[in-house]
Amino acid sequence: MEDKYLQMLEAFALAKKYLKQQMELGVDELQLPSDLKFEYRKKSRKKNLLEEFCQKIKDCQKCHLYKSRTNFVFGVGSSKAEIMFVGEAPGRDEDLQGEPFVGRAGQLLNKILAAINFKREEVYIANILKCRPPENRDPLPDEIEKCEPYLIEQIKLIQPKLICALGRISAQALLKTNTPLNRLRGEFHDYQGIKFLVTYHPAALLRYPQFKKDTWEDVQFLRSEYDKMKKVGSR
Ligand code: URA
Repeated sequence: MEDKYLQMLEAFALAKKYLKQQMELGVDELQLPSDLKFEYRKKSRKKNLLEEFCQKIKDCQKCHLYKSRTNFVFGVGSSKAEIMFVGEAPGRDEDLQGEPFVGRAGQLLNKILAAINFKREEVYIANILKCRPPENRDPLPDEIEKCEPYLIEQIKLIQPKLICALGRISAQALLKTNTPLNRLRGEFHDYQGIKFLVTYHPAALLRYPQFKKDTWEDVQFLRSEYDKMKKVGSR
């Protein structure tokens, strides 16, 4: 184990020296091995596909919520994200800014992410509904039915390894169940081959701080699963 670590350090030092030499020689384009190039292209392709998809759906009028929206709230974060967080629907701030989780609940979500060592930019955040329901009421089944395919396509394009549902609405919608949230949390579910964890919605935590302890356990569990996957992947 220690040997492996030393070898890695040595390899990094050599790579650094090589890059420095190349820069000093005025080389400004690296010749990458073809498999690396493929991996790089695949990642930037994902970003383009996601942007194209957003352009295609952003003027959606499939349900009546388009009439009262200021902005269509597509999603935010890295197209290469390995973890995706799925909330319910945009609120007032999100509708005004066109980005999910930017209001008070969003600030709490940022703190939760930071507590488990994730930056907002490295994960992907989206909602079941892309438009704000009036007065922040719960999404209606018909609105979910019309909007959910957009989220499903986002998941298909991003291909996260883990999904974390924030709150009952997204958990029940994606898992196609009526099971209450407190019975859905605490274990990984399978969502189309992707590990799927359920926790409380940050807005619920603002109202009921007594659920923060459970949420802390959930997100620690999420982080440890992520770390386990990374460890296996690096072998
Ligand atoms: N609540 C949500 O579920 N999503 C948001 O984007 C903001 C608040």
